[in-house]
Amino acid sequence: MKKLALHWKILLGMLFGVLFALAMVQFSWGPEFVKDWIKPFGNIFINSLKLIAVPLILASLIKGVSDLKDISKLSKMGGRTIGIYLITTVIAVLIGLAVVNTFKPGKAISQETRDNLLENYKNDADSKIADAAKQKETGPLQALEDLVPSNIFKAATDNGNMLQVIFFAIFFGIGLILIPEEQAKPVKAFFDGFNEVILKLIDIIMLAAPYGVFALLAALVAEAPSTSLFFALSKYAMCVLIGLALMIVIYALLVWAFTGKTPGFFFNGISPAQLLAFSTSSSAATLPVTMERAEEHLGVDEDVTSFVMPIGATINMDGTSLYQAVAAVFIAQAFGMDLSLGAQLGIIATATLASIGSAAVPGAGMVMLVIVLGQAGIPEAGLALIFAIDRPLDMCRTTVNVTGDAAVSMLVAKSVDKLHDPKPKNWDDNYPNK
Ligand code: ASP
Repeated sequence: MKKLALHWKILLGMLFGVLFALAMVQFSWGPEFVKDWIKPFGNIFINSLKLIAVPLILASLIKGVSDLKDISKLSKMGGRTIGIYLITTVIAVLIGLAVVNTFKPGKAISQETRDNLLENYKNDADSKIADAAKQKETGPLQALEDLVPSNIFKAATDNGNMLQVIFFAIFFGIGLILIPEEQAKPVKAFFDGFNEVILKLIDIIMLAAPYGVFALLAALVAEAPSTSLFFALSKYAMCVLIGLALMIVIYALLVWAFTGKTPGFFFNGISPAQLLAFSTSSSAATLPVTMERAEEHLGVDEDVTSFVMPIGATINMDGTSLYQAVAAVFIAQAFGMDLSLGAQLGIIATATLASIGSAAVPGAGMVMLVIVLGQAGIPEAGLALIFAIDRPLDMCRTTVNVTGDAAVSMLVAKSVDKLHDPKPKNWDDNYPNK
């Protein structure tokens, strides 16, 4: 077991989790046991990852920005990062639209199934619509206003305010560049050391990863609602999955074309983060591991990961934007609406913005989907049509979100000459894995 690479250990944990839950259901031991005795371990695992996400962003970003020593370098890297993120997100939406228009999954839904879904999931859909309404009651500059925290401790305690933490860290880092070197030195040394401690904590947490994902998957399967309507949605699910798979291929090809690193190298390096993203459905919870893998296994310099990754986990959600495009058109098709080219072009813009605005937590993409539906004139109640199958699709889109962040970090690193051969400091798996 010790010699096994980390991603195999995590995969085994997932597999045993699913088998365990199926056995429990088979022998009618009831989901209560899983809820009381297994699920808490999954929660402890996710919480420990989330626990270090904020200190990690703070320490690594402050260090990363101050290490650049030059504000023009910061804006160059910032511009590239945001530019590449936007391009990949738009590509994802286009792929989503192409797939859903080709296979037309909404037309495969009978009126009876549609009415059943609308009735069965009405309350779930209503609660998401209410969440989205809170976000909609804002002015055009609200996003900008929200970027600046009035209290950093409040921002750090609020899950949804990762961008405020990022803003503070960059602002602080710029201050550090601008003060005299001898005064900046001890502050930098502190954040340097702090950063190392956090990275070590990630190593420790990852020791528990196979057990953590076992508990997460067991609870998920044991508590999954059994629904016959699930299968009615298989064509829609296939469309999302085909789109997501294409996106993964595109990342690997982009990385190969621009950095010369093979798909095998890329997937070997990032797979533990992908598996965690799948198990947790949260890019924010996965962030510490994504950063560590990019630095130590993909060879991305810390200066780049510390900047590109936290921003990516928060705003770059290609899997989410692709899913939102597919879901919006699927719902329109199921209601017998033919979306004009103009409406579909509108979806490119709204799904891109909605994915940027989605929080990096489970189910957030569905809340923002309400806004995409509203803008395209598609009935919001249609959310009920896709509810039954949202969690498994969330797991898959989160995997793509995280993969996209890692790929972009390699592209940005290459463009600023900060991609090198990886030097893992860790114990965890059988290096070299090139
Ligand atoms: N769960 C996704 C993430 O954290 C967001 C979404 O719901 O699409 O990346």
